[in-house]
Amino acid sequence: MGGGNNQYDLIVIGSGPGGYTAALHAAKLGAKTALIEKADVGGVCLNWGCIPTKAILHSAALYQQTKNARRYGISVDGVTANYPGVVKFSRQTVTRLVKGLTGLIEKSGIDLIRGAAVLAEPTVIDVKLNAPDVDGAVSRRLSAKHLILATGGAARGLPGVAFDGEKVISSREAIVQDQVPARLMIVGAGAIGLEFAEIYATFGAKVTVVEMLDRVLPLEDEEVSAVVRTALLKKKIKIHTGTMMKSLAETADGLSCQLAPVAGGDPLELSVDQVLVAIGVGPVSEGMGLESAGVATDHGFISVDEHLRTSAAGVYAIGDVTGAPQLAHAASAKGIYAVEHALGKTDNRFKGDWIPGAVFTHPQVASVGRTEAALTETGTAYKVGRFPFSASGKAVAEGEIAGFVKVLLCPETGKLLGAHIVGHNASELITSLTLAATHGLTGAQIMQSIHTHPTLSEAIPEAVGDALGLGIHV
Ligand SMILES: Cc1cc2nc3c(=O)[nH]c(=O)nc-3n(C[C@H](O)[C@H](O)[C@H](O)COP(=O)(O)OP(=O)(O)OC[C@H]3O[C@@H](n4cnc5c(N)ncnc54)[C@H](O)[C@@H]3O)c2cc1C
Repeated sequence: MGGGNNQYDLIVIGSGPGGYTAALHAAKLGAKTALIEKADVGGVCLNWGCIPTKAILHSAALYQQTKNARRYGISVDGVTANYPGVVKFSRQTVTRLVKGLTGLIEKSGIDLIRGAAVLAEPTVIDVKLNAPDVDGAVSRRLSAKHLILATGGAARGLPGVAFDGEKVISSREAIVQDQVPARLMIVGAGAIGLEFAEIYATFGAKVTVVEMLDRVLPLEDEEVSAVVRTALLKKKIKIHTGTMMKSLAETADGLSCQLAPVAGGDPLELSVDQVLVAIGVGPVSEGMGLESAGVATDHGFISVDEHLRTSAAGVYAIGDVTGAPQLAHAASAKGIYAVEHALGKTDNRFKGDWIPGAVFTHPQVASVGRTEAALTETGTAYKVGRFPFSASGKAVAEGEIAGFVKVLLCPETGKLLGAHIVGHNASELITSLTLAATHGLTGAQIMQSIHTHPTLSEAIPEAVGDALGLGIHV
């Protein structure tokens, strides 16, 4: 396929989980592919997001477990945390995975071009190379039959509170800073905000979380939010929901934060050493020539149709730059789909109905499908089933009894409408429910599938059984 040095079947801009997955899939399907990356291979997820945070969270969990080990008959004296070592382990994890991924990309025959791309025409791009190439050229013009935009996202700031990289930071700085702030305020109680709350509280910071909406993890099931809130409070994390951060001033005592209840009432002033803003992720789409190439955007997010095509012929967009759900696996799934559609392998719509999400706090949260609130809002009937981990043999044996599995079934078809888990390893447990939902299995079929004993996963057929009036241990 393809021909000429600068002509490709497919060009992918951005090597995050969306872009690199798309490029690898295209190469497997025999397409002559170029992957353009201006910064780090692996994008935000691998370098600044999913992976480094999970490495730090692993250290946090290990630290906590070791401190609690006496309960399980293990004596460990003098347990201390060396936070620079924690960050070092996290960065080593990233380095190892980036090296592996870069090798995989190069081995697959993809042209990995390091530089910043702008669109000259819909499927013609100019790349400003990060370093001159062997001929001394500093830029290259490339063209392709199809282009995939996978340029990702970046942390949004608070109006009037600029990031300075030291006192007011985003997750990007938090991931690499190797000191734990004594007093930290986190603005935003979504997944990123709470994962850092977990990290810093475990390593000794006094953490305050401020959230504009009325609960932590406001998009999750309400009962799930309540369990997480209790767990955060137990860690001595202070939580102000229904509260806005109004302004910030430097004082002799650090930063003075003015907070105001959304519903009105007395403002609150808090002194902290650092503020981490985690209120959401905006698109990386500016200055790329999108408008002149005819690629429509909405508040910077690239608009796509059900086939992930943009408004410009031959141009697709995937991942964070297209908006919610801003998750790595959503970006990858879209990358695979866009390649298949571009290469004529499918004409079905992109099916993104069952994309799970997870929050790696302790206990973890994971969900797929709709919440009770969303079903109620649309007047959709449902049956609910729950199973608490306090009734699970494996959870009790591991001292991980917080949380539950909750399923929402359609009363007519018996199929899943939503599933919500809060508890140990929820991020792994959600997978079988996602599989069941994706393939339209009924609650009865889920129960027919025999689950290993003793495992946390036994809570799944139990919760389904509860919804059907057939639970064994509830
Ligand atoms: C702290 C944190 C924790 C997270 N944890 C999780 C998690 O546990 N699970 C999960 O699913 N998601 C998580 N996410 C979200 C996840 O990182 C993103 O959803 C994912 O990275 C999006 O992938 P992407 O391919 O769309 O873009 P990105 O990963 O953002 O990659 C885009 C790439 O495009 C490059 N690029 C941009 N413009 C150009 C240009 N003009 N030319 C060349 N290259 C360009 C960028 O340099 C970047 O490398 C987390 C995010 C953060 C910040």
